[in-house]
Amino acid sequence: KFDWTVELKNRLREVFGINSFRLVQEGVCNANMSRRDIVCVMPTGGGKSLTYQLPAIMSPGCTIVISPLISLIRDQILHLKEHNIEAVMLMSGIAQDEMRSIMRRLEDTATSQGSVKLCYVTPERLSKSKNFMSMVQKLADNGKLARFVIDEAHCVSQLGHDFRKDYKELSRLRQQFPQIPILALSATCPQKVLGDLLQILGLKPITLGRSANNKGTVYFSSPLYRKNLHYKVVEKSSVAAEVIRHMIEYIFEHHPNASGIIYCLSKKDSEAVANDIQVRSDGKIRTGVYHSEVPDLAKERLHEDWRRGTIKVVCATIAFGLGIDKADVRFVMHHSMSKSVENYYQESGRAGRDGKDADCILYYRSMDAFRLNEFVVTKTGQQQIHEMLRFLQDVKECRHILFAKHFSTQSNLALSAWSAEPLVRCSHCDNCMRAPGAVEERDITAEAWRVL
Ligand code: ADP
Ligand code: MG
Repeated sequence: KFDWTVELKNRLREVFGINSFRLVQEGVCNANMSRRDIVCVMPTGGGKSLTYQLPAIMSPGCTIVISPLISLIRDQILHLKEHNIEAVMLMSGIAQDEMRSIMRRLEDTATSQGSVKLCYVTPERLSKSKNFMSMVQKLADNGKLARFVIDEAHCVSQLGHDFRKDYKELSRLRQQFPQIPILALSATCPQKVLGDLLQILGLKPITLGRSANNKGTVYFSSPLYRKNLHYKVVEKSSVAAEVIRHMIEYIFEHHPNASGIIYCLSKKDSEAVANDIQVRSDGKIRTGVYHSEVPDLAKERLHEDWRRGTIKVVCATIAFGLGIDKADVRFVMHHSMSKSVENYYQESGRAGRDGKDADCILYYRSMDAFRLNEFVVTKTGQQQIHEMLRFLQDVKECRHILFAKHFSTQSNLALSAWSAEPLVRCSHCDNCMRAPGAVEERDITAEAWRVL
């Protein structure tokens, strides 16, 4: 279906020893080889580097990669060396003679037989080093400048959370090299940042389609599709003890000896849920509590007990997150709805890091939306609750597709035009499992809108 897929896959196997692409990688690599401008938004760990490294080794000349952190650049260089790919890095702090030798290799690549495939630079190189910029010009003049790659591209925008002054200088790239394609990579790029980014980098508006005369920017976005996660939204009883009973039964039936997390709305809730589950399971399910007011020492002990498996279930507020390094979490339950779809994706995503099957179960009733709303003061916050409600209310669409749509917003068409794999139903979430017509559609959002 794609012009370059066969060759890309061969090189992927030969050079990297990888047999298949992840979701949008194939599309991004093909769009790259077709010399299109690209914005690619993929979560951390999704595999963004491959989307330019593979095209880089297949293109004549050198790909320039702008990356903000020296430590990240070093990791990449080591990785590329292991795969026998010729790559260099330029940044402040490199010794004079090494700098000269790197510049010589770039010169060779521009004018004779040299073959540096990737050159990593920090953004201040572009703004501060005239030598380097004239080398880039030389590469371009000799047809040896393959493309620019901008890692963490959201840093160009002041509207984002991570603005960096040096990134503003990147607008020079399009001005000085109008013919050279640009690939912008990021893990987070909200709509307003995206608009800003296109403008600052001088990229054309995003367009759909792959025809040769279409020169607009191609946009890709994909949340990590994790097929081992089984999503389910459960109607929540208004009787607290019923909810606990349901949780205990579920754990006994599906995960009797496994580790899990139960996210709760408040500190008080997490304490109550932890206590109730342990007591009502006659101590068979050992629980712990984690929230911001648990003393540091107790937190450490909990982490340790949980890791060792002496505590099975951590009942927590969203304070429990960073630093969870447990791979075999078999279930993440939500005693109450998350405050946004992003939050739910992150929190539930702590299940099944080992790739084995895991359950993500959310207990929902409209009263919880009302309670949650009391915590939220901003308009954005309320909008996020509404989006979360829409996610919960949907009883038809596959949960994984709902996530994909949420994260790619207006760009689904772009995604399907360039993605070899269309968005397919996971076939194992609650909505996929529900036989068509088996359940009357219930409009829980309408109910919730009334209380909000
Ligand atoms: P990102 O930059 O998006 O955070 P990386 O490019 O660092 O992610 O990739 C994360 C990890 O995933 C790396 O170890 C990489 O080798 C691996 N990876 C990338 N693509 C694939 C793939 N198609 N199959 C298997 N592993 C992959
Ligand atoms: Mg990266």
